Amino acid sequence: MDVITVGVDIGGTKIQAAAVRNGSVAGSHRVSTPQTGANDLVAAVGDAITKSLAETGADVEDLSAIGIGVPGAVDTAAGTVSNSPNLPGFQGADPIPLAKMVSAVAGDVAVKLDNDVRVAILGEWKRGAGRPYRNLLGVWVGTGVGGGLVLNGELYGGTGAAGEIGHTNIKPGGRVCSDGRKGHLEAYAGRGRIEAEARERVKDGQKTILFELMEKKGRTRLSSGIIATALERGDKLAEELIDDAVWALGVACASVQNLLALEAIIIGGGLGDRLGEPFVDRVARQMRPQLFVPEAPPVMLTPAFGDLSGAVGGAVLAES
Ligand SMILES: [Zn+2]
Repeated sequence: MDVITVGVDIGGTKIQAAAVRNGSVAGSHRVSTPQTGANDLVAAVGDAITKSLAETGADVEDLSAIGIGVPGAVDTAAGTVSNSPNLPGFQGADPIPLAKMVSAVAGDVAVKLDNDVRVAILGEWKRGAGRPYRNLLGVWVGTGVGGGLVLNGELYGGTGAAGEIGHTNIKPGGRVCSDGRKGHLEAYAGRGRIEAEARERVKDGQKTILFELMEKKGRTRLSSGIIATALERGDKLAEELIDDAVWALGVACASVQNLLALEAIIIGGGLGDRLGEPFVDRVARQMRPQLFVPEAPPVMLTPAFGDLSGAVGGAVLAES
């Protein structure tokens, strides 16, 4: 009999679902993330699940389990989410029982939750670019910078928050990070902090087309696409900020490599996906002179599933 699971990647702007039949993606559906609270978000997740299943010709009765990646503090045993700054309805310290709520709108099917970046890396490791390896790091460069570690063939959790490479210190006293501390990788490579730095430099009189492009697109934030377009047009400020991001990623990844002697590093996330292989190659070149064993560098990879990594990872989580 067919085994059908659905993986869901919940982000601050979109919810992506993928229906996986016998290990392959057979349907997918994306909806915008409601900005109006937990109940509306759960309804949207239910809708994305139903529509991704419909593409496979199956319905909720055929579904064996659901796996969800969600940003914020996730209690995997309890199936709850709290402290998720970009997710309306989940921002507070009170744990919200997301797994139970989704199960209620999806035929009482079992629902598992984990952190969004860990789930995306699980997907790439089990089904995507990371399949050949037992020791790897995933670095997800998006609004923030998240990460996940696979060590000796297991997703490593440590005492809880292992893999948070975004908050490793690469420059003591450097730029301010989203958590208020200074000099972290995310302060240089996270899209949110790149935007904050760009706004500061514009105030200081530096010229850029970044915000012009943003307004033309009717946006209020710098997206990965806007940054990529500015780079393509030779925008000096965008180039400087991405040079800094490459430098910061190189420092952080080289340090991790020297500590753990990994087989591979996957660089993904919104900005990582959008800038793609040339960006990852630049990070690899930046790392090289800092490697203790330069003749055995890690294989540097881009995600096989692009922005579907998280949803595929959710399906893998559901099968586990
Ligand atoms: Zn930080």
